[in-house]
Amino acid sequence: MLSVRSIFRSQLRLNSVTLSSLCYSSSSAAAIQAEKTIKDGPRNDWTRQEIKDVYDSPLLDLLFHGAQVHRYAHNFREVQQCTLLSIKTGGCSEDCSYCPQSSRYTTGLKAQRLMTKEAVIEAAKRAKEAGSTRFCMGAAWRDTIGRKTNFNQILDYVKEIRDMGLEVCCTFGHAREAAGCRTEEGWSNSL
Ligand code: SF4
Repeated sequence: MLSVRSIFRSQLRLNSVTLSSLCYSSSSAAAIQAEKTIKDGPRNDWTRQEIKDVYDSPLLDLLFHGAQVHRYAHNFREVQQCTLLSIKTGGCSEDCSYCPQSSRYTTGLKAQRLMTKEAVIEAAKRAKEAGSTRFCMGAAWRDTIGRKTNFNQILDYVKEIRDMGLEVCCTFGHAREAAGCRTEEGWSNSL
């Protein structure tokens, strides 16, 4: 004779089978691309339409399949430790109204000069010793136009920090011609 408990258990099993087949039978772009990525590995020849289709996938589908790929490609219990250093603080000519570094507002923040190479490299060494694998430098500039000397100085910092085995990224406001060229040369992992 079937007990209430065994009926309940078989109902649960049925529900989970139905649920899992629902998950895996999804044919959204997120599901299709996730399956392909897990099977064939990463790719860098995405078309705009393919990206749009993934973007337009149902949100929970996107989360589920995105997590699948992420767990497949990475140890999901690991995070990359990065250190961010403001190498030139305050006195920015831009008007980002949320930012205390803009010179257009009285925020009590004193504008500073670009940090010296010694100070930046010392900070990068400390970051590495503390476990960071990426070092990011931020400068309170609207852009890098007319800052060739400073820019070349930072280029030197970047080279040295990369030689220490750290990834490097930079944030210098609008990155235009000069920064773009340097990115092509591959001196920074990101701008
Ligand atoms: S450009 Fe950057 S530093 Fe300058 S005000 Fe805007 S957020 Fe702040």
